[in-house]
Amino acid sequence: MKSNRTIGLGVAAAMLGTLMAGAATAQEQRFVSVGTGGVTGVYYPVGGAMCRLMNQTRREHGIRCSVESTGGSVFNVNAIKGGDLEFGVVQSDVQYNAYNGEGSFAQEGGPHADLRSVFSLHAEPLTVVARAEAGINSFEELRGKRVNIGNPGSGQRALMDILIAEYGWTNADFALASELAPAEQASALCDNNIDAFAYTVGHPAGAIEEATTTCDSVIVPVEGEIVDKLVEENPYYFTAVIPGGMYRGTDEDVNTFGVGATLVTSANVPDDVVYTLVKAVFDNFDSFKSLHPALANLEPEEMISQGNSAPMHPGAEQYYREKGWLE
Ligand code: GLU
Repeated sequence: MKSNRTIGLGVAAAMLGTLMAGAATAQEQRFVSVGTGGVTGVYYPVGGAMCRLMNQTRREHGIRCSVESTGGSVFNVNAIKGGDLEFGVVQSDVQYNAYNGEGSFAQEGGPHADLRSVFSLHAEPLTVVARAEAGINSFEELRGKRVNIGNPGSGQRALMDILIAEYGWTNADFALASELAPAEQASALCDNNIDAFAYTVGHPAGAIEEATTTCDSVIVPVEGEIVDKLVEENPYYFTAVIPGGMYRGTDEDVNTFGVGATLVTSANVPDDVVYTLVKAVFDNFDSFKSLHPALANLEPEEMISQGNSAPMHPGAEQYYREKGWLE
């Protein structure tokens, strides 16, 4: 009896030890996902850069970061709202509209009150690429053509819906209004299935390089009174220039307008998780900037003072205060 009992206790102690070890492991290993966009865009490599820096110090904080290719900005804010993603890269206009329940968010679910800013990133000019032989020299000349207006859930689609309405058009004004995802645009253009596509993206972008090197294509300006009015009336739009010489076939600067990319999260994501991501990025800022050319000109102070319309997440604020970047 006695020996049995001893064995019994020993087993129980061992089991308890296993359970405790299991609990500790579960607590140490937390998982976060960053929603991005198509793999040939800029969000995906930028999200990958954040996760890479965060995972470098995983032994210290126990958080494993993974990057996910998604349908883009609108998909990301909705997935954050649903608790399926902890972080997302989203356009500044989409952040604004989601938090305030405006634009497409006026009908779909209303304001996303728990949306929180983390920091802003690179500029994303609206980039219209057309087959050279299509003879499209301005946004107005897209009318009657076969145009990829973007997949539902993407930031470019949200922007194109607004722009098309501002021009007084509907999708029926195009010979074809396709909804291809970013990774499909270049081949559709070069296979002559579409005449042009519109993509809100940082530069240089893999998708634009692909479209301009696989076949003869040009970047089309998006400017004029309608654009000026949008930029004047909305804090998240600004005029932008795509530098000449960046892509084959476009040697002169191209005027357009655009938005900024931003990183957002939810108020429900714990402070230490957000703090850890922010710290990983800013403690290794030179390395972060070198991971994609679109990030090369970022400045920390601008990243926390511009483009973030939702309230700042307290975990991010804590790091910025420590650095003296916030009061
Ligand atoms: N701006 C695009 C969107 O919001 C994504 C661009 C990218 O993937 O770099 O859907």
